[in-house]
Amino acid sequence: MGKWGWLRYSLGMMNVQGQDRAVVQLQRSLKAGRLASTWIFAGPAGVGKFTLAVELAKTVLCDAPVKVLNKAEGGVRVKGLAADFELTLACGACESCRAVAAGGGGNHPDLHIITKELIRYHDKTGKSKGTTLSIDVIRGEITGDSAEGKEAKIYKRSFRGRGKFFIIDEADLMEAPAQNSLLKTLEEPPLESYLILITASPQDLLSTIRSRSQLVSFGELPNGVIVSRLLEMGMVEEDAALMARLARGSLGRALRWADDIRVIDEKNAAAAERAEKKAAKAAEKGGGGDDEEGGSTDKFTGGGILSWTRELGGALDQLIAGRAGASDVATLISKYAAEYSGLYLLRDKLASADRAKRDGIQLLMGVVAEWFADRLRHALGTPHEAPLPGITGALDYGLVPELIAAARDAEWQIDMNANDKILLAATTTRWEQLLHHS
Ligand SMILES: [Zn+2]
Repeated sequence: MGKWGWLRYSLGMMNVQGQDRAVVQLQRSLKAGRLASTWIFAGPAGVGKFTLAVELAKTVLCDAPVKVLNKAEGGVRVKGLAADFELTLACGACESCRAVAAGGGGNHPDLHIITKELIRYHDKTGKSKGTTLSIDVIRGEITGDSAEGKEAKIYKRSFRGRGKFFIIDEADLMEAPAQNSLLKTLEEPPLESYLILITASPQDLLSTIRSRSQLVSFGELPNGVIVSRLLEMGMVEEDAALMARLARGSLGRALRWADDIRVIDEKNAAAAERAEKKAAKAAEKGGGGDDEEGGSTDKFTGGGILSWTRELGGALDQLIAGRAGASDVATLISKYAAEYSGLYLLRDKLASADRAKRDGIQLLMGVVAEWFADRLRHALGTPHEAPLPGITGALDYGLVPELIAAARDAEWQIDMNANDKILLAATTTRWEQLLHHS
């Protein structure tokens, strides 16, 4: 596995790839000098909504914004804008730009990033799990609370005189009271305050909020954008193509998985080192120590989701060939779902292990469904351009829809809190039956 580059948090607005339509909309507003006070950035997870919101803030807050013609010179070129269109870009060098760049925007006094995790500063009971955005967070970070003596940050003057930005991540997680509290502010937007609501489900926002906001729509990213970014980070082509396929248009998802693989390598290297020291110690004490020490000390499979997908594809090949049983496939899915959960908890210490394992099973069931779909595409003579790994070619197309339906049904049931062991046994047995007794 190659070396993974660190994720870059501060890309220029022009470097948000595959979202030209959104960039065009923002550039037109910047040029016209009339920026809406409330925005909704809507679209799937991990396609650049948050990054572009921070870039917009950076551009407006910049002490010396740069005007550049939209020509291909210097790599700056936005599709959908004329070559003589004057782009407005953050300079990237002033004090303001540097503050935005440091720590993903968190270090700028006029840029407020609101996430559900902030509940830990605003929860009076100490019991909240931070799964929603409560009114306490919205009051504490934006609208204020006179009863609590908390000032409304949104009505305060900006520190650096160029306005204030409030970016609410996962805005659809705002509870109804939180949305209502925000609505009152939107009715009389304070001068030079800008609010950007980031969401994958805009329909979960109050219609009264939506009608007062400027909508910017984001689409799924083309595969090529994700592949080239992964290649830039040093991933080999075969891995990049597979990961892009699994990420289904979400660069954020792909980058998170790439980072997981880096974490796995680190964890496994540390575990191997510990095991080595332990073995050396045992040998020192006078040989032959028959500790519990076995073979591998790896807790995580190296290669993460890439290996899970390849192994799972291999197991399905074996199941089809009759060389493996349903329980072998079930065991594999369960093992990788547990690893998924472990990695998730490393990233988010507040998360529930059970919930994360369910998400892992869902992810893997989705991979299996796609794997079966690839066999159907093959049978129809229209193979996928980046097929999921497996040696089985075509599968009977009377069979595939039922195999997929069983996987989709499991995805749904695991979300409904079905017992995971029983569900995995039932689902894999169903596949086996369909494959061998129909
Ligand atoms: Zn600047």
